Amino acid sequence: MFNSFKIGTAFGIPIRIHWTFVVMILVLMMRVPGSNTDFLLAVGVLLTCVLLHELGHSLVARRFGIRVIDITFWPLGGMARMSQIPESSKVEGLVAIAGPAVNFVLAAVGVVALILFGPQAGGTFDRYAQTFVFWNLGLGIFNLVPAFPMDGGRILRAFFARNHDWLRATEMAVSVGRLCAGMMFAASLAWMMSGGEGICLLPLIPLFIWVAGGRELLVVRLRHAQMHFGQPFGSHPGQPESQTGRQPNGSQPEFGQPPEVSHGQGSGFSDADIRTLEQFRGRMRPPD
Ligand SMILES: [Zn+2]
Repeated sequence: MFNSFKIGTAFGIPIRIHWTFVVMILVLMMRVPGSNTDFLLAVGVLLTCVLLHELGHSLVARRFGIRVIDITFWPLGGMARMSQIPESSKVEGLVAIAGPAVNFVLAAVGVVALILFGPQAGGTFDRYAQTFVFWNLGLGIFNLVPAFPMDGGRILRAFFARNHDWLRATEMAVSVGRLCAGMMFAASLAWMMSGGEGICLLPLIPLFIWVAGGRELLVVRLRHAQMHFGQPFGSHPGQPESQTGRQPNGSQPEFGQPPEVSHGQGSGFSDADIRTLEQFRGRMRPPD
């Protein structure tokens, strides 16, 4: 990803850090009381939990033949970029739930460690293990908020898609997501105005949900509009390659990128394409 740099590879997936994340850590290091070593240790553990969450999504996605381009850390968390996810409620639901599931498993491991080793190990171990459990529970629960395109919102779209077409399911999930975003925005402003710790990133999360949800809805609308031209794009698993919008070299259009418009058999739109377009947009040719 542009403006990010690679820090390693996990399961063949490049792990990257966006420059804004580095700036955020440096600013927090200057503001947070206590030693920088403790702070960096805490950041390292939190990053590992987020990375495992993203690897959960990525490895399940791979099982369904989805290509994982990279995982990038940025100020609002981690993000696994993937090629087109098929319009299948089963695939989307399983990929989305895998991330929070990893955090709940990690939290359970922390609880078991506390029970087994807590009594002998003493205060410091207890404190770190409790923080580990708390963070993982927090990550798992927060990501399940039904605010599309967060994991909970994707699970909700998968649920809606059982009884509606993909576009309608996306519209419904984005509407619920924006309702959640509105409530989160109001709550974060109230928190900051009531003298809560000035976490200036807090209102950015609902803004991101609002913008990213709308962007993804636009991509789905474009893809479905394209279906009017006889080339269903990245639609159903199991379809022949030639009908899924994959590129001739086998690579798929990247997640979040609008598809290329069909140009009919040869170069330019066919008469049938133009007739279809005209139904939506009015006359597009000069009169004969
Ligand atoms: Zn996730």
